[in-house]
Amino acid sequence: MGEQKWIDIKDNDGYELQNFVIPTHYDKSLERVLIPYGLIRDRISKLAVDIAADCENPVVACCVLKGAHGFFAHLVDDLKKQKNNRAESIPLSFEFIKVKSYENTESTGNVYISLSEDDLHSFKGKDLLIIEDIIDTGTTMVALTERLKKYQPASIKVVSLLLKKTPRSNNYVPDYVGFAIPDLFVVGYCLDYNEHFRDLDHIAVISEHGKKVYAV
Ligand code: 5GP
Repeated sequence: MGEQKWIDIKDNDGYELQNFVIPTHYDKSLERVLIPYGLIRDRISKLAVDIAADCENPVVACCVLKGAHGFFAHLVDDLKKQKNNRAESIPLSFEFIKVKSYENTESTGNVYISLSEDDLHSFKGKDLLIIEDIIDTGTTMVALTERLKKYQPASIKVVSLLLKKTPRSNNYVPDYVGFAIPDLFVVGYCLDYNEHFRDLDHIAVISEHGKKVYAV
């Protein structure tokens, strides 16, 4: 096998809903399961191993809210068990950054980043690990990393659980990626559609019915 840096999910990949436990309130709102919870957890364990191998100093783990909080919690838990390449454990501190750019399934083009100036100044000289749920067009992550650079951290690395294969991409690719996924709107594992579906364990494709029922 070649040097593939992530698991590539193809257009028609996935599993029928009947094979999984799905909350009944989402019965008609999903098309199929794209990535089952167990596979998400297994992949995160390996991401933690890869990230730890590259760590030299204490890391500020920055969770991009709200969608990444499940990924953040599991990744940090796995990172705590890892050693860097000097066989030392990795001191971690945490930061939470609220970013919003979506309404329904469309990027609004505007990126709102909420973090206090005091918190941003505290990044000076630190190694930041930005933990994101999904990169779609790349707009959010380019805007966020450009803003953070102004506060002179020693380094910025980005890990995203998902990378969407879309022609709308600005070609931004994070340092670490869990899965590359087809150009579909996905929900679950804390990823939302207008604040719904965060309570679904698996990553799934929303159905047309679901888009209508939960539209704002
Ligand atoms: P970008 O700026 O890369 O286009 O979008 C990044 C943000 O859009 C993500 O942090 C996420 O909040 C949202 N997003 C993009 N694609 C999806 C998707 O398929 N499902 C969900 N739930 N959110 C998405």
